[in-house]
Formats: sequence, structure tokens, C-alpha cells
Amino acid sequence: MADEQTLSQTAKPGGDTIFSKIVRKEIPAQILFEDEEILAFKDVNPAAPVHFLVIPKRGITGISAVEETDVMILGKMMYTAKKVAQEQGLTDGYRLVVNDGKHGCQSVYHIHIHVIGGKQLGWPPGTEKCEACL
Ligand code: AMP
Repeated sequence: MADEQTLSQTAKPGGDTIFSKIVRKEIPAQILFEDEEILAFKDVNPAAPVHFLVIPKRGITGISAVEETDVMILGKMMYTAKKVAQEQGLTDGYRLVVNDGKHGCQSVYHIHIHVIGGKQLGWPPGTEKCEACL
């Protein structure tokens, strides 16, 4: 299977996504939190000991597509990220990441917050090489 960077170079918004299928329970996921608007589940290809995704059930394609009317759901996503991070025992901190578009290496066009932690992370991001972009 192609890696996320490769997928992100050709991925486009529109149509059904794998995350919509997870919302509809058509494919399995390790769900950490769910209510009527939000789902949090483990990333299938974790970048750290703890790596989960927070998504709205409603399929906004990405952060560059949000409208002012999405402010409440964006806030709820951030709050859910914090709550689940706490439940996952991330007492020494963690990072939230939202990838957008081709340069941001977004591969799934259903907005999501990555919550990454459980080890010391480096800074700054953006220095990594994207093989697919060379
Ligand atoms: P992004 O590159 O920001 O679009 O991130 C998409 C993320 O979704 C990647 O970290 C993938 O590992 C993750 N992912 C893709 N398919 C699944 C899946 N079926 N269940 C959980 N995570 C997934």
C-alpha cells in the first residue's frame, strides 16, 4: 500500500472518504470517543506511541474549506482532542496537527485533527523530506 505522503500528492476533495465509512461503521476503527457530532479513533499507521484522530461526523473536506458556521464544531474537535489526550495519559504534552492540501500532505479529505504523543517530539516540523514530492 502507498504511504501517506504518496497518497497525499494525488488525493483530492470530493466523494465518500474512508472516514465517512468509519462514521457509518462500514469499516472498523478503534474508537476512543463518540457522540452525535464527533468521533475520535486510533490512527491505523501511528507516528508515535499515541496517535489518534478527531473528526466531525459531518464531512467537511479540510481546514481550508471551513466556514464561519463551522466554528462551534472546530472548537468541539479541539476540546475532544484535549479530553481524549487526557484519557490516554498524555500528561507530559502532545501535539495537534491538521494537514491541508497537497503541500500539507493531506491524504484524507475529511477534516481531522491528529493528536500525537507518548514520546518526545521534535521541532520544527516541515524539514522532513517528502519522497513523493521530489
Ligand atoms: P492526513 O495525511 O493528514 O490526511 O492523515 C490521514 C491519516 O489517516 C493518516 O495518518 C492515516 O494513517 C490515517 N488513516 C487512513 N486510513 C485509516 C483508517 N482506516 N483508520 C484509521 N486511520 C486511518
